[in-house]
Amino acid sequence: MPELPEAESIARSLDRALKKRKITKVEVFFPKLRTPLEPLKRAGLVGKSFLGCRRRARYAVADLDDGRMLTMHFGMSGVVRVEPESVPRRKHEHVFIHLSDGRVFRFEDPRRFGFLEVQKAGKDGWPECLAGIGVEPLSREFTGEFLFNASRGRKKPVKELVMDNAVVTGIGNIYAAETLFASGVSPLRRASDLTRTECDAIVRNAKRILREAIKCGGTTVSDYRNVDGSEGKFAQKLKIYGMKTCPKCAHATAKAVIGGRTSWFCPNCQS
Ligand SMILES: [Zn+2]
Repeated sequence: MPELPEAESIARSLDRALKKRKITKVEVFFPKLRTPLEPLKRAGLVGKSFLGCRRRARYAVADLDDGRMLTMHFGMSGVVRVEPESVPRRKHEHVFIHLSDGRVFRFEDPRRFGFLEVQKAGKDGWPECLAGIGVEPLSREFTGEFLFNASRGRKKPVKELVMDNAVVTGIGNIYAAETLFASGVSPLRRASDLTRTECDAIVRNAKRILREAIKCGGTTVSDYRNVDGSEGKFAQKLKIYGMKTCPKCAHATAKAVIGGRTSWFCPNCQS
């Protein structure tokens, strides 16, 4: 599942690929992903140009010159490509947006949990559908003090807090596991038991790991690909996610299902 670094990589690639390109044709080959795709055909996109592409949470948001935004989420298996018209359509490429440079924006999603809609801007300049989501982990608002305050009175495990999009958005399963390992905090710990020092460490490590993952073009675990089809390189740098032994102490790792997602941790190094 594409997480924040992958969405950031996709948004940066799309920014280069879409900027100043005019839309010449829209084709929809399947009725719906998470929401219906037919409205894309009636959105009056032909003749509009892209101004660029940005990321918010795990969404890529491509700005149009009429103030609206093509908003996309990659679900479990969404892949975006921008390729020449001559490349044949792949089986699960559900939407084609033809561009004035002869290339085609293609949205592929075999499992169809993705999202692709034209949205109006809300008051904050982001799509209306993204209102009410939490702070960006790489922003100045995400501090140890912020996390400490957010954790007070919360009985759920710290892993669920770190992955709660209403608190901080875009830290998914892989990066939550890596962040808590680097911070020496067990994912099972009750959030309200975190100390301020531990919150500082979690925030510091989350930012460092996310930045490093962005530099690597994200993590390819199964389906994820960058816009150019390349794999993310961060998988080679994972320390705890999916590991059998701890890279620090060689103790066998432990697995637990927290909030419906499998978590790896070292029972020796994380408490
Ligand atoms: Zn260990």
